[in-house]
Amino acid sequence: MIDDSAGHGHADGSGRPLPLPGSEELQTLRLPARHEKLYNFLYERRSNPPTMREIRAFVAAEEGEAPAQTDRRVRDLRGLFHIKTVRNRRDHCYLLAGLKGSELTGIRKPISIRLRAQILSPQRCAQCGKTPLDHGVLLAVDHKVPFKWGGSDDANNLQPLCEECNAGKKDYYATYVQYADEIRAAANRDEPLRRIGELLKAFNGGWVPSDLLGAVASMMQYQEDWQKRLRELRALDWVVNSKRQTDPTTGRSFAYYRVETWQPWPGGGIAAEIKRRERLKRIK
Ligand SMILES: [Zn+2]
Repeated sequence: MIDDSAGHGHADGSGRPLPLPGSEELQTLRLPARHEKLYNFLYERRSNPPTMREIRAFVAAEEGEAPAQTDRRVRDLRGLFHIKTVRNRRDHCYLLAGLKGSELTGIRKPISIRLRAQILSPQRCAQCGKTPLDHGVLLAVDHKVPFKWGGSDDANNLQPLCEECNAGKKDYYATYVQYADEIRAAANRDEPLRRIGELLKAFNGGWVPSDLLGAVASMMQYQEDWQKRLRELRALDWVVNSKRQTDPTTGRSFAYYRVETWQPWPGGGIAAEIKRRERLKRIK
């Protein structure tokens, strides 16, 4: 049923060609390890698409994972890939058909050697502070705002991270992969306050690391004092909580924020509304 003679692409509106398992193209999508295994499985089974029961059996054998989590992972993959449901006698089968639109997954050029050297030049992990010289860590170039969420390859969105911090960050963000659309939309708003507010909303009440908030706030132009924007949200009657968490191994502490209650954006412009409220306060 599936014509594989023309390589791994499809020209029937099912999106861009699928990256080969293990390819660099697939790596640029930064799939978490378990998602990648599932992708590889679906890729191998394109000529004989598996049913959900078979998918669950595969994952259970590989990872001993509960069915509900597997279903979620298939949903996550659907954010990036066209996965068609085809009927086969009694069952629905899941056919991996193509990669979704280019603005979402745009396959990009690798970061230049010169830029990589510039980012890595402090020779120190931006998160835990460990160095290759003193601690033997390996440093990698990390995107503060992940590429998948609209982050760019510009120097101000890049930082050196050690493998351990990088892996921790990936795991943390992977738990939010289902909000990728909302997060990307938030990061592309015009005003910094709106970017921050929409990002908090996109995490759906979950804790947002302050470095991500800062990076998203600075996406269009650098925001020296983005915490001030948080105070402005509170002035608009948003309830935003914060917490600090200390990494027991390094003693470094990190701030997180989450929105508990949010308000619709004022119709007459955010800055005007904040001014109006400040004036009212002074009168009282
Ligand atoms: Zn580190």
